[in-house]
Amino acid sequence: MENSLILVHTGNGKGKTTAALGIGLRAVGHGMKVLMLQFIKGTWHTGELDAVKRLHPDFKITQLGQGFIKSQKGEWSEAVLENARTSWNLTKQEIASDAYDMIILDEINNMIDYGLIDVEEAIAVLKERPKRLSIILTGRNAHPKIIEMADLVTEMKEIKHPYKKGIKAQKGIEF
Ligand code: ATP
Ligand code: MG
Repeated sequence: MENSLILVHTGNGKGKTTAALGIGLRAVGHGMKVLMLQFIKGTWHTGELDAVKRLHPDFKITQLGQGFIKSQKGEWSEAVLENARTSWNLTKQEIASDAYDMIILDEINNMIDYGLIDVEEAIAVLKERPKRLSIILTGRNAHPKIIEMADLVTEMKEIKHPYKKGIKAQKGIEF
């Protein structure tokens, strides 16, 4: 019996995206096909992009975003809304493709939190996923309905972060 799972990595501490990459690495070792779709991110080149290229085509990362986003008086620009629609449509296609054993939806919790992806629609898509497909959702402020439907939820809690001491993001650790 094989069970696919819905996993959530949330909280304000570091480790949400990197823990998902770790699980992806583990899955690739078992011959599984893994895809990470990164919402929001798109301008910052991180080490995992090049590391995962070495595992191509078993492990792929696609960046869907255009970098850090911020609303103006609670309103999103048309460019952000358009990017959210395109990113979500691609996500639905990749999930339905049945080409993967695991899909990591990196920072999707933030997209749902911002109202850029509808939580009810996200839940429907997760429920209708191919049988073998496990999905990891990362990002702060995971929606209570996502937490409720998930099988495994971990909250990263900040105890200490070097940023608070004014130490800038370190290569190989933060990016
Ligand atoms: P990582 O990608 O290192 O696993 P993350 O996915 O948990 O971190 P995000 O909220 O996606 O964290 O933020 C991405 C970037 O912000 C990373 O460079 C991360 O180190 C940094 N970061 C995470 N948590 C904090 C924090 N509490 N204070 C300052 N910077 C943080
Ligand atoms: Mg992250």
